[in-house]
This record gives sequence, structure tokens and C-alpha cells, in this order.
Amino acid sequence: MKEPLDINRMKKETLDAMWEVISDNKAPFVQFLDRKAKLLGLEKLSWYDLDAPIGITESKMSYQEGADFIVDNFEQFGKENADFARMAFENNWIEAEDRPGKAPGGFHTFFPESSQSRIFMTYSGTPSNVSTLAHELGHGFHTYAMRDLHLLNRNYAMNVAETASTFAEMIVSDASVKNAKTKEEKLSLLEDKIQRSVALLMNIHSRFLFETKFYEERKEGVVTTERLEELMKNAQTEAYGGALDEYHPLFWASKLHFFITGVPFYNFPYTFGYLFSLGIYALAQEEGKGYEEKYIALLKDSASMTVEDLAQKHLNVDLTKKDFWEKAVRMCVEDVEEFMALTEE
Ligand SMILES: [Zn+2]
Repeated sequence: MKEPLDINRMKKETLDAMWEVISDNKAPFVQFLDRKAKLLGLEKLSWYDLDAPIGITESKMSYQEGADFIVDNFEQFGKENADFARMAFENNWIEAEDRPGKAPGGFHTFFPESSQSRIFMTYSGTPSNVSTLAHELGHGFHTYAMRDLHLLNRNYAMNVAETASTFAEMIVSDASVKNAKTKEEKLSLLEDKIQRSVALLMNIHSRFLFETKFYEERKEGVVTTERLEELMKNAQTEAYGGALDEYHPLFWASKLHFFITGVPFYNFPYTFGYLFSLGIYALAQEEGKGYEEKYIALLKDSASMTVEDLAQKHLNVDLTKKDFWEKAVRMCVEDVEEFMALTEE
């Protein structure tokens, strides 16, 4: 663990506190998966059912409507982020045309000399497209907030790379859920949000559990494919709280991340980043617009401090303690509670 922790500028205690809180909070997600199984007419979900959609989203926004929706909602959390988004739209930094042969998804890059961003995505008007656009604009804002720093102090690690993007995406996807026109649409949008939590608190957790065991056994020699399958299934069963009927024992073979030899444990930074951002979002909701100044200061320091110092300095929290993580996981659990209430028979 030393190497990945060093790369991500974080302490083992922080990682342990995070996973402990996640392990303590599996129950609501297991209930969600059970409910989802019921809605799909199944006894229990299997690995291959996890991504099946629930509900229908019909409402679409034109590109202009999507842009206005993003800027308006960013504005609730501060002027700078909203102004940045406006600038990106007005200067045509975004190539979003939906045309034949263009793949879905989003991508952001920036130019350090000019402090400009460029976003490449396919916008077809769904709420999920609007969230993706907000996500990429969040990446843009992160690099923009650091524009006055020396280039060497702008190279942030993987675990904080998604801070601003997740934050921006959360603002917009929460607003979309509130804005939903029908119950079906609300369900679909909520499910989309919860799926992210399931991926980061269950799927990524299983990868971490698997890799931990794998490295232990590898010290003793080659780990056979049969044993790898066993380790994977055990890790998935634990991480999904036993909620699934069939698991994916060959996941270790299909997932590229396990084969990136330069970066061991290419998993926990995703979960860290997600919860770190949600924790900041929770604090921002408590404090409102005045929060932005602190948020920008945090982004500026994100490539030159350990995450513990960063959180202590700008959020006044101790990441090695469970409180911050509890607050972040609570945000995910609230989505589940809303989903459960909406699907009560
Ligand atoms: Zn991203």
C-alpha cells in the first residue's frame, strides 16, 4: 500500500476510516438492490442485472436550455464557477454536436499557458448529458482555479482529480431530480445517481478487497486462476453485502485496471474522490454561497498538499476520523431513502 498511498498523498489511517464507514453502511444499498430486483420481477439481482435501467426519462433539453440550467444551478453555489461556465459557453470551448458516428461520453483538456479549457462530448439533450457537461465544466473550473500557480504545482493526484467535476455534476444532477416532471422520470434519475454510489461503494470496494488478498497470497508464489476466481467471488460477496445471486468471478481477467503494473490498487482513489467531493458538497449546502471562496482555495492547494492537510486547512476536518466520511456516505444514503419511499407498494 505504500506506493499508491504516496502517489495519492494520503495516509493509511484515512483509507481505513473511509472503508470502515463504507462497510458499516452497506445495509441501505443492499435494500436498494433487493427493491430493484423486485421492480424487475426477479428474486435477486445478479451481476449482469446491475445496470438494467429503472423508470423512463423522456424530457429533453436543447443545448441552450442545458447551458442555462447548468449556469443557473452553479450560481446557487457561487459566482466564480457560474462565470467560468458562462465563459466556456460563450467562447465556444465546447464541441457538443450530436452527429452520426460520434461516440457518447465526455472529455476535458486544458491549455496551461492560456488557461483555457476545451470539452469534447456528444450532447443529445438527456438529463445525463446535462450532468456530463456539468462534470466536464467542473474539470475546467479546477484547472482554471489553479491558473496563477506554477505549472509544477498544478499536477494533482488521481484521488483529488474528480473533486471539482463530481461537485459540479452533483449540483446539476440533484437539480434534475428536483426538476423531474413525472414520478417515472424522478425514479430513473435517482436510480442513475444511486448506481454511481453502488459502483463506488460496492464494486470498487470489491476490487480493493480482492487486490489486498491477492498481494498477500502472491507473496507465497503464483496465485492460480481457480484461486483468483475464488478471491474475486469472496470479495464481491462481501462488498455487495451478499445482495447478488450470481457474481463475476472472472472480473479480475476482464478489468484492465488490475493489469496496470505502474499503479497498484488502481481503485480506491475513485471512491476517495467521490466521497471527498460529496463531503465538500454537504458542507457547501450547509454554508451556501459564501462557501465558494473556501472551495477555490482548496482546489488551488490540491496539487501541493497531502489530502489530510488539505482537508484540515480548508474544511477544518480530520480525514483520519470517521465523521467526514459519515457525512459523505449519508448523502448517498439519502438518495436510496428517497428511492425506497417512491417505490413503496
Ligand atoms: Zn471526470
